Amino acid sequence: MIGVAVLGSTGSVGESTLDVLARHRDRFRLVAIAANSNSGRLAQQVRTWQPDYAALADERAAAELRALVGGAAPRTRLLAGAAALEEIAQAPEVECVMAAIVGAAGLRSTLAAARSGKRLLLANKEALVMAGPLLLKEVGRSGATLLPIDSEHNAIFQCLPPFASGGLAAKGVRRILLTGSGGPFRARARAELHRVTPEEACAHPNWVMGRKISVDSATMMNKGLEIIEAHWLFGASPEQIQVVVHPQSVVHSMVEYADGSVIAQLGHPDMRTPIAQALAYPERIDAGVSSLDLFRIGVLSFEQPDFERFPALDLAYAALRSGGAAPATLNAANEVAVAAFLEGRLPFLRITAVIEETLASAAAGTPGTLEDVLAADASARGRASQIVARFNSHAA
Ligand code: NDP
Repeated sequence: MIGVAVLGSTGSVGESTLDVLARHRDRFRLVAIAANSNSGRLAQQVRTWQPDYAALADERAAAELRALVGGAAPRTRLLAGAAALEEIAQAPEVECVMAAIVGAAGLRSTLAAARSGKRLLLANKEALVMAGPLLLKEVGRSGATLLPIDSEHNAIFQCLPPFASGGLAAKGVRRILLTGSGGPFRARARAELHRVTPEEACAHPNWVMGRKISVDSATMMNKGLEIIEAHWLFGASPEQIQVVVHPQSVVHSMVEYADGSVIAQLGHPDMRTPIAQALAYPERIDAGVSSLDLFRIGVLSFEQPDFERFPALDLAYAALRSGGAAPATLNAANEVAVAAFLEGRLPFLRITAVIEETLASAAAGTPGTLEDVLAADASARGRASQIVARFNSHAA
């Protein structure tokens, strides 16, 4: 039995993970679940799964959780506070950690799992964008196994030779073809995007996801974050990563080799596939996902990304090339701007403008420690919040 912790269990990836685990109770044991403040949903999960630990980062919500669970789960230790999530990520009963907290909030627990040598299933791409070198150092030092959950990176992982060592060149790889649907506004003119609402931005054509990543898909910053993620996961230079718009979301990414071969991974746009792949790796298990009906799909199409309509892509390439604190700054500014958009404080098209302006004042130097990363993150959040506030005072 493999002991699993799901951090972010009340979210979209978290719930999909529980769905896969429920199909394999003979193989996996859910040891711990954790989230931020959704006490109602976590209480339901505690009752169903009776895990060893359940934690909420928000202390007030954790008190609600205690009241909601009552005596229904006598074996479960109910924990409160952000530090409890790190404790769970390192618990000896946990062999495998699903890091599915959204945003920078997931960094500490993701690092804790890496530091303690777990099998780390990484959905929390923001952690890698903010602190790539640090996370990889912890993985290398502890002997943790890092497996990508993002469907594109999981696809690339599946298309790479399984046991070859060395960099991409040693593996004979020429390019990574990182596919993306183009989001809900793929076919809209930029002029039509001034007044889009959070509901429109969150209505992704193919994937059902949390609100932050849905807005990231609409601006294409999700693909931008994934460019940086691919750099750290696979050692790919910015020139080796080609974004390919693929509206059907059936090809989840491709790897092109020196001999001209292009290997692709296909499947339904359903996160249970990469989750099951990583949970069972190197074996394969049922994910509850139906067969791909290629006759019904009929056509797979591919387009060039439009860098003018979606400036987030250039911003991400630029941050990757600049290195240092730029990726952490990009991520923090994006989180601030997306939150402001979702709260109705910032128009959609201003999201990338806020990021661009914040990046222009990114701190110099390379963040070598967690404290450095958190300082770069805090400074970028402060700057981005000022820019959002300035926009509001002009708009008033
Ligand atoms: P959701 O918004 O659906 O869920 C987010 C989860 O994170 C919730 O469990 C939430 O808890 C928890 N959380 C948020 N803030 C904190 C905090 N401060 N401390 C502890 N827990 C916190 O997000 P998704 O599932 O869509 O995305 C999760 C991650 O996976 C993101 O990094 C995203 O980029 C990545 N990803 C998602 C995909 C998808 O299909 N959804 C695909 C590929 C990657 P609560 O409910 O209590 O607020």
